[in-house]
Amino acid sequence: MTEPSLKKLTTDGERAVRVSILLPLPFPSALDYLAPEGAVMPGDLVSVPLGRREVTGCVWDMQSDVPADFAPVVPKEVSLARLKPLLGRLDIPAVPSDLRRFIDWLAAYTLTPPGLVLAMAIRARHTQPARVQLGWIRGDTDPASVRLTEARQRVLDVVSDRPLSTATLTENTGVSSAVLRGLAAVGVLQEVPLAVEPLFAPPDAAFHPPVLSEEQREAATHLAEGVRAHRFGVTLLEGVTGSGKTEVYFEAIAACLAAGRQCLVLLPEIALSTQWTDRFARRFGVQPALWHSELGGRKRRETWHAIARGEAAVVVGARSALFLPFPALGLIIVDEEHESAFKQEEGVTYHGRDMAIVRARLSDVPAILVSATPSLETLTNVENGRYEHVTLHRRHGSATLPDVCLVDMRRAPPDRGQFLSPQLIEAVKATFDRQEQAMLFLNRRGYAPLTLCRACGHRMECPNCSAWLVEHRARQILTCHHCGHHEALPETCPACEAESSLVAIGPGIERVHEEARLHFPEARILVMASDTLGSPSATAEAVRRISDHEIDLVIGTQIVAKGWHFPDLTLVGVVDADLGLGGGDLRAAERTVQLLHQVSGRAGRADKPGTVLLQSYLGDHPVMKALVSNDYQAFMEQESAQRRPGFWPPYGRLAALIVSADSADSADRLAAQLGARAPDLPGTQVLGPAPAPLAVLRGRHRRRLLLRTRRNVAVQPILRQWLEGIKLTTHQRIDIDIDPISFL
Ligand code: ADP
Ligand code: ZN
Repeated sequence: MTEPSLKKLTTDGERAVRVSILLPLPFPSALDYLAPEGAVMPGDLVSVPLGRREVTGCVWDMQSDVPADFAPVVPKEVSLARLKPLLGRLDIPAVPSDLRRFIDWLAAYTLTPPGLVLAMAIRARHTQPARVQLGWIRGDTDPASVRLTEARQRVLDVVSDRPLSTATLTENTGVSSAVLRGLAAVGVLQEVPLAVEPLFAPPDAAFHPPVLSEEQREAATHLAEGVRAHRFGVTLLEGVTGSGKTEVYFEAIAACLAAGRQCLVLLPEIALSTQWTDRFARRFGVQPALWHSELGGRKRRETWHAIARGEAAVVVGARSALFLPFPALGLIIVDEEHESAFKQEEGVTYHGRDMAIVRARLSDVPAILVSATPSLETLTNVENGRYEHVTLHRRHGSATLPDVCLVDMRRAPPDRGQFLSPQLIEAVKATFDRQEQAMLFLNRRGYAPLTLCRACGHRMECPNCSAWLVEHRARQILTCHHCGHHEALPETCPACEAESSLVAIGPGIERVHEEARLHFPEARILVMASDTLGSPSATAEAVRRISDHEIDLVIGTQIVAKGWHFPDLTLVGVVDADLGLGGGDLRAAERTVQLLHQVSGRAGRADKPGTVLLQSYLGDHPVMKALVSNDYQAFMEQESAQRRPGFWPPYGRLAALIVSADSADSADRLAAQLGARAPDLPGTQVLGPAPAPLAVLRGRHRRRLLLRTRRNVAVQPILRQWLEGIKLTTHQRIDIDIDPISFL
């Protein structure tokens, strides 16, 4: 293994100049250091002294294309004589200038110290120089001159002049690596660098192109032209589920490859993307590069370097992939653009879709947003001409859209204590009789969302959060889905000590599973939830079993709604279609339609027609009507009519301040202080302070304020002024969430 190489810089005898270095730390701006003239360029990664530490930073050139509205702090100039010199320059690819501008922009927009955004791009584990792999060949010493054990002999039988890795050698001979080192010590073996194979073979645009329908070809041609123009522009690719959107944007990727440029595809849940990557491989002959938080240390570093060298031509990733150092970006695609999973809620809060557009603009490349149910934000941008729009109206081949029917739970409810209506049970049985597959969808993990004492009414709550504990019967625990707290299910009520009085209220998928086993004793059932399918490989195996029809009934949470394609799946039952409509969330209705539409889209994707049954107590709700009539456009027009008058997004802007403290008192005081200084400006309004719906989270007391402005008002300077001079104690915090998606 080679050490990270550092090119030492000394300023002795040369003219030293001032350079700005952005450090991956929460400082308000870059810091100045001294460097020999011409020794470093903007984007170079360098090592600098900071107090007694040595830190890696990036040579920064602040530019003025961050809108003045939310321009960051300009540091005070320190005299040259007091500046410290750089220690050295790291021998790794520089941070490209479009990525630097993106970091500046995102930091300014989200009111985050720029160093913390840089930290997302150059985490130490990415940027360490790639390690050189070593292998073994025959050494100069004659084996006859040394003591040969049986193990050593086995190694000698295999080794030659072509280097073999330690792993290959130990696997093929069954000896330990100590034996190899022993042989090297006496010179019979020699260690040499292994030739580096490129990590990602280039995708072949001509590998296996599909025969597109006319509608698909038109869309694909339009997108490919955009890519060849190599200019910024956003296109919405809208199309019903199963219409071939993926096939169509693959043609845009092909055009990007033909132009010799890199393509970034963002997916909301990358760990579940095995079907996507397999399709990619069938189309382009190789696997794409993957980028997500579960990528292991070495793979992560190697992928980062391959991207930085321009070797990885197509990267499919989570939102964090926006911070990768593409030297030749040519296209960004955001699939399922309406998904709220693109919003990062922890640390630096930003919306992956929105920032993808910013990234595309700063890199001057096209962006494609893909969805069957586009967000109102995106539709509004189409309407006012900012985005282009291409549409696929029909499912591919002979597939038709499923029939969506309402099961009115007021009229034909399930038996007491059960959750599947007679109509749904019959439909599942009929599906099995036709040798087809069914899916039951309920967006709730565990057995029951509430455990209640029948004797005294006590509810089992989380000690750290204002939330109920969810029973997970298979694991025999009650757990909090917000903080992870868990405890054994007590035998007696903790409040009144009544025995065996605790009852489960409401269903989770474990409970639906229990009920399904009762009704369909012969069926082969698979339960899919993020907590039961931890790893990508477990998900891949589950998908394979469904595809190969080893499963009759799939029961799952939202992970079953993803873009899966199961040809024999013809019935989808939504156990509780009303689930997402509670709470005061601005986008509750929109999100419910999007989610249920997507689940529905799993039914009847091939030549067998599909049916969707929605169990609902709110049959007259616009959401149910939209789903039954499959008229998304009419629904979105209503949504738009509701949001427009109050200047709710996308017709106005929102920014949330979340105050949290270790006591309710302290949170109240800080919230009141903010409330008292709330800006009073034309076109702006402050709502709150009010206790957050999750008033206590992980033991912290939370209050919320919401700033709402007209579209043409920038919220950043207002927030900056509002927060100026607010002093926080060590136990108080204010989190800023620009364009909030969650209001918990
Ligand atoms: P969407 O992304 O719109 O849901 P997909 O791209 O997943 O649709 O297409 C649905 C199914 O139809 C997939 O199995 C896909 O491979 C297939 N398909 C779509 N268009 C074509 C085509 N032109 N030729 C062959 N198969 C196609
Ligand atoms: Zn909790």
